[in-house]
Amino acid sequence: MAGTMLAARLHEPGKPLSLDQVPIPEPGHGQVLVKVHACGVCGSDVHFVEGHSPVARTPITLGHEPAGVVHQAGPGVEGAAPGQRVAVRPGTRCGECEPCSLGRDNICEQSQVLGMHVDGGLAEYVAVPAQDLIPIPEGVSFAQAAIAGDAIATPYHALIERGQLRAGETVAVFGCGGLGIHAIRLARLAGAATVVAVDVQPGALERAKRAGADLGINAAEERPSRAIRRAIGGADLAVECVGHPDSIAEAARSLKRGGRAVIVGMGDQPIALPPPNAFTWSENALIGSFGSSAGTVRRILAMAAAGRLDLSESVSAVLPLGDVNRALDMLRAPGREVVRVVIEPGR
Ligand SMILES: [Zn+2]
Ligand SMILES: [Zn+2]
Repeated sequence: MAGTMLAARLHEPGKPLSLDQVPIPEPGHGQVLVKVHACGVCGSDVHFVEGHSPVARTPITLGHEPAGVVHQAGPGVEGAAPGQRVAVRPGTRCGECEPCSLGRDNICEQSQVLGMHVDGGLAEYVAVPAQDLIPIPEGVSFAQAAIAGDAIATPYHALIERGQLRAGETVAVFGCGGLGIHAIRLARLAGAATVVAVDVQPGALERAKRAGADLGINAAEERPSRAIRRAIGGADLAVECVGHPDSIAEAARSLKRGGRAVIVGMGDQPIALPPPNAFTWSENALIGSFGSSAGTVRRILAMAAAGRLDLSESVSAVLPLGDVNRALDMLRAPGREVVRVVIEPGR
């Protein structure tokens, strides 16, 4: 399809995104051109813009949480009809490597992340592999579908698939931003006995309570592991959504015997761990978790369509593409009153 479109592109880390007119991408073999109706902006985008996480090349169009309609199918694509409402997975999968063959496509060895390795969805159109499309069920908005693939499916994978949460267990969630707030909602849905929220922002703790946390602990005022032990005797499952060494160490220290700490937050600083006996005598586990598989995103969308997942507070603001830098500023703002900001290029 000839023509140009507006795209939010990173030219140089440390500088704001620029809104460029670029050619509308041509869908290659096995690809589909999606007209973007909504694209989530998340903390990872802030990391890319500030240069804390590297992108594969510059300039690059950011955005790994798009949803929209199929506009045009490339050669070799079957079953993607123009007009079909679709969410797009944040990362591609090759289908052939060992993790893919085991159904763990979220850790595909060849995976390319939208808006990090290839041009993403903060644009009017995005070209993606047809196999990464997930149909949006009726009753789920584009904005909700956009954030389902990352902000909701990621904590689901961490809690349920990696953390093996069972009904009646106690859960501690460290960091109550976009991932953490959904971890709290999902823990309640999965039947957790008690959910404790940990953050350093009073506003985030208030929001965590509205999402279903029984108790909020301000890590700037008291040591979370001590407070969790005192209040509930320790956590069966701790989910760390910050990626900070102190917060990961505290998550590991907050566990009961037999407990699991799952790291979802990204970071590159070394972690100090509790002594070996915590892992041997107490059989505690420290587990990493990344993204989710395609099947998990389908599940999240089905839960949202069935009204089981309250997403009313999940999208804090909807802005046009021209305001993408304002969206990033909202996510950076201290106090983090924001869960997710969604960009709607058609606005
Ligand atoms: Zn994200
Ligand atoms: Zn693979």
